[in-house]
Parts: sequence; C-alpha cells; structure tokens
Amino acid sequence: MNRKIVAGNWKMNTLLESAIRLAGDVDSLLAERNPGDVTVILIPPFPFIHNVADVIDRTKIKVGAQNCASEAEGAYTGEVSAAMIESTGAEYVIIGHSERRQYFGENDEILSKKLKLVLENDLIPIFCIGEKLEEREAGKQFEVVENQLKNTILSLNKDDVKKLVIAYEPVWAIGTGKTATPEQAQEIHAHIRKLLGNKFGTDIANQIPVLYGGSVKPGNAKELFAQPDIDGGLIGGASLKANDFVDIINSF
Ligand code: PEP
Repeated sequence: MNRKIVAGNWKMNTLLESAIRLAGDVDSLLAERNPGDVTVILIPPFPFIHNVADVIDRTKIKVGAQNCASEAEGAYTGEVSAAMIESTGAEYVIIGHSERRQYFGENDEILSKKLKLVLENDLIPIFCIGEKLEEREAGKQFEVVENQLKNTILSLNKDDVKKLVIAYEPVWAIGTGKTATPEQAQEIHAHIRKLLGNKFGTDIANQIPVLYGGSVKPGNAKELFAQPDIDGGLIGGASLKANDFVDIINSF
C-alpha cells in the first residue's frame, strides 16, 4: 500500500448538491495541480458516497465511509453494513473515530467486530486512536494508544494487519484548532510503529500507513508530513474547502 495518504472526513456536513460540488471541485483542482504519488480519499456521509464516487476520477481519488455496522446484515434498523458500503464503490472505512467512541460508546469489542467485517468485505479500515486532553496532561498518551491497539489491531494476524491504515488523532486537537506539534505527533507515531514492529516485525510495521489527524491545515501540513513516521493526514474541517484540502495534499 502507498504510505502517503490524505483522507478528508466530511463528518455530518454537506447536502447532496454541496457534496457533489465539493467532490467535483477537489477532482478538478487535483487534475490541475497533480500531487504525484499521494492516495487521496474523500469520506462523505453515507447517503452521498455513491454520488461522490460517480463524479470523481476513481483512478486518482478514492472514496470511503465514516463508519459501518458491527453486524453483517439483518434486523438492525438504521445501520449500514460493510457489504453495503463496498457495493457503493467505497474502498475505505473509518473505524473508531473518537466521536464514535465518545458519543456512541464504541469500545474495543465493537471495534474489533467492525474491523473483521470491513476486512472480510475487502475494504481498507482507517483505524483511529488517540488520547484525551486529561490523559495527555497526566503523561499517559503512550499508554493510551498502546491500550487502544492491544485488543484490536495488535490482535489481528499478519495478513490482515498489512491491509489497514492507522490514524493517530489526539482528541484535544480534533476540531479545536490546536494541533499537536510535529515533535509531539512524531513521538507517538514512532511509538505506534514500534508496537507494530514488536508484534509483526519491522518489515510489516514499515508498510503500514500511520496518518496524523487533528486540526491539520495548509499552514501546518508541510511540517507534520515531513516527520519520518507521519505518512499523511486524516483531515476534518479543512477537507470541506476544496482549495485547502488540495493545498494539504500538495504539502508533501
Ligand atoms: C477528524 O475529525 O478526524 C479531524 C482530524 O478533524 P479536524 O481536522 O477538524 O481537527
């Protein structure tokens, strides 16, 4: 898998028309300003995935979903399965975003079920981890990310772990305008890669993209992406502005 990735998580924003317009704008800007070897992923709300996939050049831009159900199919009103997502043209699924953990009570057990279904449906999980403000203030950030990986990613087999993306998103930096410094982010990314290496070997650890997320903007992306263990970004707010998002993509 290409380690350089920039993914835009649109969260619960846009309507059908504005989602199509935003995807079209990103597509045309990227065609003008060819960013080279970067995998670009747009992650709109569920109802717009198929429309977004339709208006972009899918050889250059990929599409993902923000979540999926923890069950495969059946009587789960309102849920969206991994198989449904796959059938729309999406190739990626965010699992364990801090907003899902915080507002929807998603824990390791639920996230492991989701991971399994996503992988079984040949989709690529973007697995999010990251500490809260009080945990960082208590100096527990290394321990927190290790615990978040222990019963999920670190319990997968070698074949499956090679098929995923990890996003380190300190919760205190998401949507707050406060970004981790490149040094703060790099030391956690290096720690994540060390944990992956201890479990799966250095070769595999070096193949897994580890993205940074948390108030990435055109003004700070370059310094963050220059760190040896930061492979790209998961972008929230700034991905809703086509120009800013493409500037971030061009920051490598
Ligand atoms: C996110 O929600 O994954 C995120 C990183 O948001 P923002 O870029 O707005 O901080």
